Amino acid sequence: MLTQRLQFNRMCIAALVVATLAPIALLAQTARSPVAPRRELVESVVREAYDKFKGDTNGKNADYIPYLAKVDSKMFGIAIVTTDNQVLTLGDVNYSFSIQSISKVFTLALAMEELGPDKVFEKVGSEPTGRAFNSPLAVVDMPTHTGNPFVNAGAIATTSLISGKDAQEKWKRILDFYSKAAGEQLTLIDEVYKSEAATNTGNKALSMLLAKYDRIYADPFESVDIYTKQCSVGVNAIQLARMGAMLANNGVNPATNAQVINSDYIPHILSTMALAGLYDGSGGWAWHVGLPAKSGVGGGIVAIAPGKGAIAVFAPPLDEAGNSVKAQEVIEYVARKLNYNLYSPTSVGLK
Ligand code: GLN
Repeated sequence: MLTQRLQFNRMCIAALVVATLAPIALLAQTARSPVAPRRELVESVVREAYDKFKGDTNGKNADYIPYLAKVDSKMFGIAIVTTDNQVLTLGDVNYSFSIQSISKVFTLALAMEELGPDKVFEKVGSEPTGRAFNSPLAVVDMPTHTGNPFVNAGAIATTSLISGKDAQEKWKRILDFYSKAAGEQLTLIDEVYKSEAATNTGNKALSMLLAKYDRIYADPFESVDIYTKQCSVGVNAIQLARMGAMLANNGVNPATNAQVINSDYIPHILSTMALAGLYDGSGGWAWHVGLPAKSGVGGGIVAIAPGKGAIAVFAPPLDEAGNSVKAQEVIEYVARKLNYNLYSPTSVGLK
C-alpha cells in the first residue's frame, strides 16, 4: 500500500515536472527552424568545405586601403551561429578584421529604427546599380542617385541619416548599435581608420555628388568620416556570425536575447542583401547560392539563413567585384549541402 502510494506521488511529481518544463522546451524550440540541419551534419560539412578550399590562392587582398594590403592573405576562418545560439567554428575565428561594407547592413537597420522603413526607402532606395560599389557613374545615372544602402554612395547617405547633436554622438550611436547587434562591445581598429581616412578621396567625391543631387542629409564630409569609422570597426568571424544570426532570428540576438531590430524591418534588410549584398556579383550569387549575404573588402562575408542561423567566413583575397573568393566558395558549398537556398521550397521542409 505504502509503496503504491509512493509510486503515485512520484508519478505526480514527474507529471508536474513535465508540465512545467514542457512549455520551456517548446519555447526553446521556437528559436529554431524545424528544418534546421543537425549539428553533426553541419560540423562535417563545414570541415569538408574548409579542407576543400583552404589551398585556393585565387584573388588578391584589397590594396586601395593600404592597411588591408598587409593583412596575412592566408588567414581563413569559418563561424556559424544558429538562432538557438549554437556556435560552430573552424580556423582563424579570433582574428579581428575590419567589418568594412558589412557595417552598411547595421547602419541601415539603425536608420530604420530611427526613421522607420518608409522614410529610409524614400531617402536612399533599394535598387541594384549593376556597377562597382564605389562607382560615381552610378550616382549620376541612377534615378535615385543613392542606388541602395550597400553601395558606397547609398551607404554614406544612410549614415548621414543617423541622429545626434554632433559627429561624436552619431558615431557613438552607431558603435553602440553594432555592439548590441554583436552582443558584446566592439571597437574601432584605429590603424584601419587612419589608413582609410588618409586615402578616401573617392568617397568624398561621392558625397559631393550626392550633395549636388540633394541626396545626402548631413554635412557630406562629416558623413564620410563617420562612415569611414563604421567601416573600421573590428569583428572576428564569431562576432560577425552572431550579428548575422540576430537577423536570422527576427532581430533578437540569440546570445543576449535583446531585441536589436524591430522584426518588421528584417525583410527589408534581407531583401536588400539579396539584391545588392555582393555588389555587381549579387546576381551570380543569387543564382548559385540563394541566400541574402553581405561582403566587405576586409575579407568577410556573412550569409543569412532566415530562421536557422548565419555563416560568416573570413579570408582576405577578393575577386574583381570586391568579394572574398574563399568565403564565397565555402558559403556556396555549405548552403548547397545543408539545403539552405531560400528560393528552394525544400529549404522550408517541402519534399
Ligand atoms: N570602406 C570601404 C570603402 O568605402 C568599404 C567598401 C567595401 O567593403 N566594399 O571603400
